[in-house]
Amino acid sequence: MKEIYLDNSATTKVFPEIAELMTKIYTEDYGNPSSMHNKGVAAEKYIKEARQQIAGTLKVKEGEIIFTSCGTESDNMALFGAAHALKRKGDHIITTKVEHPAVLRCMEALEKEGYRITYIGTDKYGVISLDELKEAICEDTILVSIMHVNNEIGSVMPIAEAGALIKSIDKNIIFHVDAVQSYGKFRIFPKKMNIDMLSVSGHKIHGPKGIGFLYIDEKVRIAPLILGGGQQNNMRSGTENVAGIAAIGLASKMMYQNLDEDVSRMYELKKHLIEGLTEVEGVSINGNEGAPHVISVSVKDVRAEVLLHALEDKGVYISAGSACSTHKKAVSETLKSIGLDKSLLGSTVRFSLSVLTTKEEIDEAIAAFKETVPILRRYVPK
Ligand code: PLP
Repeated sequence: MKEIYLDNSATTKVFPEIAELMTKIYTEDYGNPSSMHNKGVAAEKYIKEARQQIAGTLKVKEGEIIFTSCGTESDNMALFGAAHALKRKGDHIITTKVEHPAVLRCMEALEKEGYRITYIGTDKYGVISLDELKEAICEDTILVSIMHVNNEIGSVMPIAEAGALIKSIDKNIIFHVDAVQSYGKFRIFPKKMNIDMLSVSGHKIHGPKGIGFLYIDEKVRIAPLILGGGQQNNMRSGTENVAGIAAIGLASKMMYQNLDEDVSRMYELKKHLIEGLTEVEGVSINGNEGAPHVISVSVKDVRAEVLLHALEDKGVYISAGSACSTHKKAVSETLKSIGLDKSLLGSTVRFSLSVLTTKEEIDEAIAAFKETVPILRRYVPK
């Protein structure tokens, strides 16, 4: 059976060039970058090249990139690091109700430490209001954290406008952006957009799991989370994951090589998918045009998990609601925030595309959906 993988917001397939590069590093260039001999020097070179590749896409300095183990670690490092470093200046933090758990759980922990957190809401498309953000900022505000693209419905937050607004009120407020779902699909220029810290994850951009990075503006001082041998300028100790770092560097370069073409093709595929899916009665799309790769679909009278498994039987992989955290079922804050009808909360699935997705795959996914939904509805008690 053909595999049609449309769960790219959960994770992506590693590009073959990247897997090859990693194998070379694991089997030939396996030195410790801190070692003084030439094996160490070779390893160090991979790290330097990855920094250059990533810094080039963001137009920032190489030294402003800190490698972490994942998007979650980048978010934790940014939020705890900034909150602790700025404790004496204030105790107020602003975020949104629709952040990934990697941000929301940190906020809850910070709240327990005594920080005050303001959660701003969204409109029916999942987009925050700049007026609400402006009203939330007060004298004690030290940190604002807003995601760029929402992982459940693909809404795009006005981060450049938010950055300008925050800095026009107080340039000492730190602005963190979780760009895990947007890096590689949008051009992001932290210096222009007033972003102080930016979280990215390797496995969402056709790199491996176990690697991420945090951009930190050189003017921003935060406390490190992980202490030890002093690697990465003391900001993130631990022997560097050289293969992962080289991989995320190459993935970054590859994602931005043909960005405009890739993104416009993905928008076309998204439009085509939406047209096909909504031909089925009782199917609605959540959010507005949004990001090129995420499509949130509510299917009246069909349970999301049941649809997921029925499509899986036809080789089509999607996800129920958001589900990029764990298997546990939780009410989605994003779907609540956009005011989705209660009856649809458990009937919402996510299709997510990648640069590798083809028109044929979308056609097959539409056909499988059209065949499956009416059958599943037959078993719904009326
Ligand atoms: N932030 C967002 C918006 C995400 O979608 C995800 C993962 O789905 C994360 C953070 C966590 O990234 P990672 O899986 O690399 O820890």
